This record gives sequence, C-alpha cells and structure tokens, in this order.
Amino acid sequence: MSEVLNVEEIFASKVFTLGKMRERLPKNVYKEVKRVMDYGGELSLATADVVAKAMKDWAIENGATHYTHWFQPLTGITAEKHDAFVSHPDEDGKMIMEFSGKELIKGEPDASSFPSGGLRATFEARGYTAWDITSPAFLKEDATGVILCIPTAFCSYKGEALDKKTPLLRSMEALSQQALRIVRLFGNEQATKVVASVGSEQEYFLVDREKYLKREDLIFAGRTLFGAPAPKGQELEDHYFGTIRERIGSFMKDLNIELWKLGVTAKTQHNEVAPAQHELAPIYETANIAVDHNQLVMETMKKIACRHGMHCLLNEKPFAGVNGSGKHNNWSLGTDDGVNMLDPGDTPNENIQFLLVLACILKAVDTHADLLRQSASDVGNDHRLGANEAPPAIISVFLGEQLEDVVKQLVETGEAAHLIEGGKLATGVSTLPDLDKDATDRNRTSPFAFTGNKFEFRMVGSSDSIASPNTTLNAIVAEAFCEAADLLEPEKETGNFDLAVHDLIKEYLTKHQRIIFNGNGYSEEWVEEAARRGLPNIKSMVDAVETLTTEKSIRLFEKFGIFTKAELESREEVLYETYSKTINIEALTMIDMARKQILPAVIKYTKSLADTVIAVKEAGADASVQEQLLKEVSAKLAEVKVALMVLEEKVKKASGIESQKELAFFFKDEIREAMSGLRTPVDELEMLVDKEIWPMPTYGDLIFEV
Ligand code: ADP
Ligand code: MG
Repeated sequence: MSEVLNVEEIFASKVFTLGKMRERLPKNVYKEVKRVMDYGGELSLATADVVAKAMKDWAIENGATHYTHWFQPLTGITAEKHDAFVSHPDEDGKMIMEFSGKELIKGEPDASSFPSGGLRATFEARGYTAWDITSPAFLKEDATGVILCIPTAFCSYKGEALDKKTPLLRSMEALSQQALRIVRLFGNEQATKVVASVGSEQEYFLVDREKYLKREDLIFAGRTLFGAPAPKGQELEDHYFGTIRERIGSFMKDLNIELWKLGVTAKTQHNEVAPAQHELAPIYETANIAVDHNQLVMETMKKIACRHGMHCLLNEKPFAGVNGSGKHNNWSLGTDDGVNMLDPGDTPNENIQFLLVLACILKAVDTHADLLRQSASDVGNDHRLGANEAPPAIISVFLGEQLEDVVKQLVETGEAAHLIEGGKLATGVSTLPDLDKDATDRNRTSPFAFTGNKFEFRMVGSSDSIASPNTTLNAIVAEAFCEAADLLEPEKETGNFDLAVHDLIKEYLTKHQRIIFNGNGYSEEWVEEAARRGLPNIKSMVDAVETLTTEKSIRLFEKFGIFTKAELESREEVLYETYSKTINIEALTMIDMARKQILPAVIKYTKSLADTVIAVKEAGADASVQEQLLKEVSAKLAEVKVALMVLEEKVKKASGIESQKELAFFFKDEIREAMSGLRTPVDELEMLVDKEIWPMPTYGDLIFEV
C-alpha cells in the first residue's frame, strides 16, 4: 500500500486563504478586507496593520523568516526581494519579529534595473509595489527557507504601470463595468460585478539534467540552436496521451502536491504530441489569480524537475522539427450571481443575451485581431505562429457547425428558425436552444475557438505570461460591450429594446462574419482566403509590436484607463529590446558552440579520418570510402567556417544600430538568417561525424531517453 495522500488537507496549506483570514481576523476587519477585495477601494492603515500581524503570525507559525512583495515586471517572469521580519532588538537584546500594515500595502524595492521602456528617468528610478488584495498571499519554500509572498502590482512614482498585473487588473474592472451594463439590459439587477475566468493549459518538455548541462544552447537560450533530427520523431503519435513513464510520473506527482499546497487546482496531466512533451491544466479561476498561478506553475515545474534530475523546458520551440509548446488560454465571463455569459442558456431571454455577447466578441476580435495577435507574441512563439506550426498567425474564430449555422441564418434572414442536427429552437425571434456542447469543438487548428461555454485562445506561447492576452481580451470585449450598451440603453427607455437588440445582433454578425472560419487553419488555402477577407497576417513578434500604438489601440486602452499612450510606447520599446537581446544571446551562443565545440570536434574527426586513410593505404588496402568521407566532412567544415564568419560580422554590425526598432528588425531579418545559415551545415555534419566525437547530446538522446 502506498502512503495515503490527503489532498483535502494539503490543499492551500501554504496559502493565506479567505478562510484563514476569517478565522484569524476580528470580524469588522475581515469584513473590510472582503469588501475591498470584492469591490475595490483602499484599506485603512489601521486595518492593514491588523491584517499584516495576522499574516505574519500565520507565516511564522509555518516557518517563514522573510516576506517579499512578489511582482511581475515586463521581463515576463516574477521578481522578489526578500526582507526578514527582524527588527531592532529590544533593550534586553531580544528579537521581536515585525511586519506592519505599511509594509504589507506598499513596498519600494530599488528595482531600477527592470525594463521600463523609458518610463522612469534615473532620478525617479524607484518602482513601487502595491498589494493586490484580490490575489492571496502564499508561502514559498526552498533552500532560502520559507518566504511569505505577497502578490503586488509594480508602478512608477507617478503611478505608471511597470508590470503585467496592473493593466490586467484595470482591464478586469473595465470589463466588469461594461458587462454589467449588458446583463442589466436583460433584466439582471442582482449581479454586482462580472468576472473574467481563465483556465490555462500549460505545455512543457522534460529532458535529463545531465544531458541538458552538456548543451550550451539549452542553458543559455532555453532551446536547441543546433541539432539534426532523430531517426524517429512524433510521426507514430505514440506519445500523445500515452502511458506516463515512471520518472515522469513521479515528477508529476510531486508537482501536483506542490501546486495543491499553493492553492493551484492542478487537474489534468498527460503526455503531449512530441516525445518528452507533457501538459498540465488547472481548473479555471478569476483571471488575475489564474495569471499568478500560471507563474507559479511554470516556476514549480522548473523546481520539481530539478529535484528529479531533469530540466523543464518552457521555451515555445525547444527542438526543430517536433511540435512546440503553447498555452491554451480558456476564457469566459461570469456574473457574481452565477451566470456564465458565454453559456447559451435555456430561455429565449438568455439566448438573446448570449447572441449579443457572441456578436460583441466577434466584433471585438475582428476589430482588434492585430492586438490580439500581438498579445500572444513573444520571441519563442515566432517559431510557432506563422512558421508552419499550429496555430496560424492569422486570427480567426471557430464557432462550430451548429452555431455557425445559427449565425448564418441570422445574417441572412434576421432569424434563427432552426438548428441543424435536429434540435428545436425555443419560442421567439432569434433565440437559441441548448447547444450541444460536444458539437462545438472539433477543430483544433483554430486560434480562437468557441468550446461550449468559453473561448479558447490557443496562440499564447508556453513560456509567456498570460497577463497580456487576458488584458487585451478584456479590453477589446469591454469596448464592444460599451458600444452596444451605448446604443441599446436609450432603446430600453423607449421600449424598443427587443427590436433594437435584434437589429444590432444582425448588424454586428453581418459586419464581422469574415472573422469566422471553421476550416483547416493550417492550410495554404486559408492564408489566401484570409488575405481576400482582409484579415491581418502578422508573421512575427517584431511586426506585431507597432499594433500597440496605432490610433485605434491608444483610443481603446486610454478610453478604459488600461494603458496610457506613454505606457503603450514604453511597452513597445521594451518588446523591441527584449527581442534583440534574446536573439543576440542565441547568436552569441551559436558562435560560441561552433567555435569552441563543433569546429574542434570536426577537426579532430578529420584528423582521425586522415590518419586512417594513410594507415589503410600503407597496409595496401582500398581507402576510397574513408577518403570520400574525409572530403565530404572537410567540405562541410569549410561551409561552417564561412557561415560562422558571416554571423560574426552581422552581430558586430548590429552593435552599431541605435534605434531599438531598427535593431529588432535587423535581428529578425539579418541575424536570424545568418543563424540558420550556420545551423544547416552543422546539422549536416552531425549526420556524418562519429557520435563518439560529436560534442553534445543529440536530439535522440534528449527527447527519447528522459
Ligand atoms: P481541452 O481543451 O483539452 O479539451 P478542457 O475542456 O478540460 O480541456 O478545458 C481546458 C481548460 O478550460 C481547463 O483549465 C478548464 O478548467 C478550463 N475551463 C473550463 N470551463 C471554463 C470556463 N467556463 N471558463 C474558463 N475556463 C474554463
Ligand atoms: Mg484545450
């Protein structure tokens, strides 16, 4: 019998949950906290002091010695700076552990080295962190000890967002306000807010740590920069959902336990398509917490993998020629009185509301396809989106046969009188009966798919924070709701609502139906068809950056107080910079590997071949095979040398480019080309050279022998 694992007991044991607050806080304090949590506002300092003390006591009881304001700078990962609870000893030299309300609410890390895209001049270099009361504090335990982590937003002195959380929180508020106007139109007077929920499915690779440490490219770039394909790839599809091997299984078990302790509802685990690729999905939760938890998922994966002698690769494309990793961002909208606005529902009233919501989302996605594409771009994701891999870089929406047919009827006749697959419509005009949820998602190639009661945004990269995609989604849908409500509220006054909403749904669907596509998103025909429809096809992260500061984008984000123009411009700058820096590291890594490992190994091999040729000839035998091989290898070696010099030249040239934008384009167009120019002959050599001499583990070693 194996040891019994009491999940109920360990779940959230490292989280300062609402329940713990209720237990430990005086009633009035708890009430104030809950009110601010639900409806915003500020805690009084007196209240914060009481909360801080309770939080500290709980943390210390659980072994904590330090606290940190845990935040999410524009690097896309999390940041922390630890402070011990220690204070001045008292007269007797006794230590009293302290943590004040002020320290809980606000921090001033000297965080001047984080990217700010010019938002902070050096004289005000300090960034400020502010407690996000809506995301619970938790304990992180590692070699440093136990640290109390307080989720915080990170802003400049003037309040400009320097992080990913601040705009996300702003977008959630904007969306809630506008979505409430929609449900009010349909008679819901009870709901007090609407919350975006997110469930993100995280893909990842596991490789053996010893082998990982033998590859500079994995260490410095998180992905292989050289590597010939293994004889076997993913073609047999024998890994997908396959039996989970012992070593991986014990990793998954530990990972789950660790995540459950942190209050992450790790739910689903399975092997993915590529060998050594796996997936974990938690149960969906409030967008803001889902974003924080996804960061914890990624961090915990790395930590636990290390414990098991493995390394977790979160890069979008660790290996050429096998599937990359993404993150499916499942998104829905729920009122606080329990209605999922993306659920078609049973009554005509609910159905019309659903259709309006759907029409608004189609409008939003069509209007801002460029922004949505941008929100899912990062350096690694360029190898997936628009690079012969799922999903395509073109944004389109998949609705499923049934719903698409309903839309078609509404566009053509203004009514949806029947359902395909034999269903019947509830009475009334343009209503929709229970949709068969199983019928909605048979398409895995769509970047934005309706899956029964949520949308699944499949473009996001595996290593990226999900903050940006959700901020963008919330913002664009808030705008569409706002515009619809502006038109419909007056009609409600005059009693024309039914007709007006019907017309508006038809108008939106008609105008924006070009965004709907149910076919194969990977096909060449779709690329052509999408161009005919005028849908943007933005091929790279660098091309997508400028969508942030179009007039349309600034208007959207400023209207709802999500980003100011200055904040958008700063993000642009940071993105260009991040791209150039990342590719620069990759290029330098390739140069280093080629010069110090690959060239010497191949030279050694040519020497041994030459020695063999001489020895064989001396012995009076035919050495033509050896001679031929020597010639081939030597010719490739010369190619490598030339390609290496080209890459080195270009990297040198890059250092002379001043403008961040120009530099990013130079890295994308010139350096990447030179990188692949170097990779090709090296990979060919790998196929020719004795495995004993090849200086690093091969693809076969890495992905089949974990
Ligand atoms: P798959 O897409 O692989 O079929 P599931 O349908 O189980 O997987 O869902 C994947 C993710 O979607 C999970 O994280 C799940 O919690 C989340 N999810 C389910 N319902 C909703 C919803 N209404 N809103 C947001 N996310 C949801
Ligand atoms: Mg999915």
